[in-house]
Amino acid sequence: MIVRIVIFIVVVAALAAVAVFIADQPGRVEIEWGDYLVELTPAALAGAVALIAFAVAILALLLRWLWRGPRAYRRARLLQRERLGYQALTQGLVAAAAGDATGARRLARRANHMLGEPPLTLLLSAQAAQLEGREEIAQHYFSAMLERRETEFMGLRGLIVQATKAGDVPRARELAERAFKLRPDTPWLLNALLELRLRAGERDGSNALIERARRVGAITPESAARRSAGLLYDEARAAFGAGDHRLALKLAERSAATDPLFVAAPILAAEAALKLGKRGRATRLVEAAYVRRPHPALGKLYLAAAPNVSVLDRVARLERLVALAPGHPEGRRLMAEVALEAKLWGRARAELDALIKGHPSVSAFRLHARLDDEEHKDALAARRHLEAAASAPADPAWACASCRARLEHWALVCPSCGAVETIDWREAPGPAKFDPASERAAPAVLPPAPSPAPEPASAQAASPASGAPSSAPSTAAPRLTEPPRPDA
Ligand SMILES: [Zn+2]
Repeated sequence: MIVRIVIFIVVVAALAAVAVFIADQPGRVEIEWGDYLVELTPAALAGAVALIAFAVAILALLLRWLWRGPRAYRRARLLQRERLGYQALTQGLVAAAAGDATGARRLARRANHMLGEPPLTLLLSAQAAQLEGREEIAQHYFSAMLERRETEFMGLRGLIVQATKAGDVPRARELAERAFKLRPDTPWLLNALLELRLRAGERDGSNALIERARRVGAITPESAARRSAGLLYDEARAAFGAGDHRLALKLAERSAATDPLFVAAPILAAEAALKLGKRGRATRLVEAAYVRRPHPALGKLYLAAAPNVSVLDRVARLERLVALAPGHPEGRRLMAEVALEAKLWGRARAELDALIKGHPSVSAFRLHARLDDEEHKDALAARRHLEAAASAPADPAWACASCRARLEHWALVCPSCGAVETIDWREAPGPAKFDPASERAAPAVLPPAPSPAPEPASAQAASPASGAPSSAPSTAAPRLTEPPRPDA
């Protein structure tokens, strides 16, 4: 501040000195212009020049303002409008994200008005419409987005989601294929396209798509392995169904090698091996699979690989298998059933008590009821266990995580709801409903002791065919519901 004042004083003093110097100069200036003659002192000349320069400067400023003013004003207004438009857009997107439909629509309209429908407001308008449940209007906006290159992909995404939700698989797939051409490495798209292709029953190129999805992180390596294994499994099952057991075995073994935790593949491979009379191979397949993931169908196949042996030999054989994963509930269930068959009551009781304590389920209680009946003819205890079975958790089964459908065997695409990779051997949530289906799905995992011919069609645990012939609950249960009369 002080420095400025000093400079100002110095400048004023210098100007004053110059003015005094000029004023003090003797002499005069003559300007002759046509007939005019102007005589001036040097001081007056200097003053006149300064005045003219000042006037010119003011005029120039005035002209500039007149020239540029309206334009600058307009631009300032536009900028303000744009700022408000983007503000509305931002707030609208926040409102949409927060699920505020009314606010999103109001702000979308405002942003539209301010910004003149740039691509982004289309998205907001679509989102607002979706929040209000007006899917057709949202579809209109998404479709409008397809017209511009910068929003085409976003619009496609909206339409794909809509079509998928509406269950229109062919349309969703057509849109996804178009989006795939635009951005082939987008994770969500790879996932969606893969599922849509699989749902449409198209397997060609699926492996390449799975590999690409894995590479960009759209699916985990485990999921990629499961899907690849699932594709092979489906092929193997088709071959098995067509009676080509050699090809089925080859494909199922490849499937099992692709995903070692995928138990459906070794089950199918062992079935095919048995069909081909390769009992040793089936035994090895089952043992390798059981270590990783015990499954009742494996126990059944293991016994079927050694037909024509005594019941005690069957117990001994199964003993070897379940020892590979000690204490596993599936092993206990298998052991209990084969022990009942061999009338080894103590052994059956030990397995069932452990099972009911750790993993109570319909089949555990039913088997216990059968034990009560066959060992001591204890109808009361048997009835208690049957009653417990009615409210017990369902036994594990091939079930879809998405629609909860229980299936006879594994499939990559749920035949009930079309979801991909949702089927696994799992414990169904909640108590089992006592419809005929779950009745069939209950225990009876083992093949009938005397019949040596393995029946691969009924190899799956949930298969009804395997339930009927073995003496299990179908015969025991109804008889047990009658008796309390003698006691009364
Ligand atoms: Zn499903």
